[in-house]
Amino acid sequence: MPNISVVIPVYNEEPGLGSLFARLYPALDALGSSYEVLFINDGSQDKSAALLREQFQKRPDVTRVILFNGNYGQHMAIMAGFERSRGVCVVTLDADLQNPPEEIARLIAEMDKGFDYVGSIRRKRQDSAWRRWASKAMNHMRERLTHIRMTDQGCMLRAYSREIIDAINQSKEVSTYIPALAYSFAHNPTEIEVEHEERAVGESKDSLYKLIRLNFDLVTGFSVVPLQLFSFIGITISLLSIIFVIFLAVRRVLVGPEAEGLFTLFGIAFFLIGITLFGIGLLGEYIGRIYQQVRERPRFVIQAILEKTE
Ligand code: UDP
Ligand code: MG
Repeated sequence: MPNISVVIPVYNEEPGLGSLFARLYPALDALGSSYEVLFINDGSQDKSAALLREQFQKRPDVTRVILFNGNYGQHMAIMAGFERSRGVCVVTLDADLQNPPEEIARLIAEMDKGFDYVGSIRRKRQDSAWRRWASKAMNHMRERLTHIRMTDQGCMLRAYSREIIDAINQSKEVSTYIPALAYSFAHNPTEIEVEHEERAVGESKDSLYKLIRLNFDLVTGFSVVPLQLFSFIGITISLLSIIFVIFLAVRRVLVGPEAEGLFTLFGIAFFLIGITLFGIGLLGEYIGRIYQQVRERPRFVIQAILEKTE
């Protein structure tokens, strides 16, 4: 069994693969530790698969390649890599060289200190002010709604322990965000700063749509607060409408009949709207439970058991 598995999803990365191989292998050889590299070709339409096959023939001792028949997305590709990985410690890396492979050594050094999850923060991130503001707002919302604490959720250069990978492999998630899922199984996480570069060749598959999807996955995957929100709104509206009706009754006595009872109608309508929203929220509670059940995530991860064995 190798010490380190490096999992790399590849989708239409033909122009950059050559320089990735040229930098990745020397960086890993320099670690002086046994390793394996797992490439997952996520249904690329260019020559990526052929290049991976060539690289496999060059270094069959440390290279493994998984070929998907179609495009299932970055996170599914990484999941496939996790399932086949054998390393004591598993590192994920993007194929586009935005995170330098030389940084893997620093992640491994942190793992050796006893951490089981090493996250990463992009140093001097090259993005527009608007993008940075949007990230900050999303980050804030995620911290409020879920228990996941991550300074920089967008960076995939991360290291995980074998226990975390096993827990992820047991989960039957369909859409998920791997760094967050891994975080929820970690008991001793840490973060380090890593270099981050512009994409040199090829194009980013990142779109606004993907960004929005990702944040939906993050919030719905790790919290049922959005479902409960409706219950809260419903109860609030019902309570306010009761106060409104009392106010109207008092006015009816003090001032006499007004606007032919129109406001009373409003009072009743608001009350009914409140009840409806509460009902939706209640449904949400049940759906939330069904959702948590069908994901079949391991309910807990045992770190160690102290007991006498015969
Ligand atoms: N990727 C993938 N399947 C996809 C999209 C992307 O395997 O459908 C891989 C891609 O080859 C790269 C990594 O995921 O190694 C990150 O993709 P990209 O650089 O486009 O995303 P960004 O860095 O812009 O978020
Ligand atoms: Mg990228």
